[in-house]
Amino acid sequence: MDFLIATHNMKKRAELERILSPLGVCVLTAEEAGVDLTDVEETGTTFEENAFLKADSGCRESGMACIADDSGLMVDALDGAPGVYSARYAGMHGDDQANNNKLLENLKDVPDEKRTARFVSVVCCVFPDGKKIYARGECEGFIGHAPRGDGGFGYDPLFLLPDGRCFGEMGAAEKDAVSHRGNALRLFREKLKEVL
Ligand code: IMP
Repeated sequence: MDFLIATHNMKKRAELERILSPLGVCVLTAEEAGVDLTDVEETGTTFEENAFLKADSGCRESGMACIADDSGLMVDALDGAPGVYSARYAGMHGDDQANNNKLLENLKDVPDEKRTARFVSVVCCVFPDGKKIYARGECEGFIGHAPRGDGGFGYDPLFLLPDGRCFGEMGAAEKDAVSHRGNALRLFREKLKEVL
C-alpha cells in the first residue's frame, strides 16, 4: 500500500522507509506522489498536535493515507526546551548549526549530571476514511559539550546515549535500533498491522 509522507527531510524519509518497508508499505514524498502539499504551520503545542496537523492536511490534499512525524529534543535543565520548537530554536527553520550552538551556549554552565535530555518522536497517520494512528517513541540520553561525528542530522552531534555513544557517530541501523523515531515507528508498525 502507498502512503504519502509529509516531510521534505530526506533523512527522515530514509528512516521511515527502512523501518516500514518490511510491512510492504511504500512511502512516497509529495514530489514522488505527484501532489502539491501546502506547507503546514506547526501551531500545536505538543508533538501529537503538530504531527496530526501535518498528516491531516496531507491526507486531505492528496486523498492518500498520510504519515507525518513531529519530533524534537527536550532538555531537562531547560525545562523541556527546545521541544516542539527544536527545528527553529535559533530562529531560522532547520539551521542545525545555529541550533546546536545555541543549545551549547544555554548549557555552558550546566554540569554533566544535569545535562539529561530525551528525543521524542510522534508519528501520526491519517487515513482518507478519517481513521488515525498515533505512536510515540522516546530516547533518553544527555547533551555533550562539543559536537561529535558528522552522521545523522539536527542535534545528533550533541546527543549522547547513557553508554556514551553519540548519535552523530552512529550508523543508520545502529541509530534506528535505539532512537525515538525507531521506537515510534516500531510501535506504529504494530498498530498499522492491525489496520491493514
Ligand atoms: P520537525 O521536522 O518539526 O519534526 O523538527 C524536528 C527537529 O527536531 C529537527 O529539525 C531536529 O532539529 C530535531 N530532531 C528530531 N529528530 C532528530 C534526530 O533524530 N536527530 C537530531 N535531531 C532531531
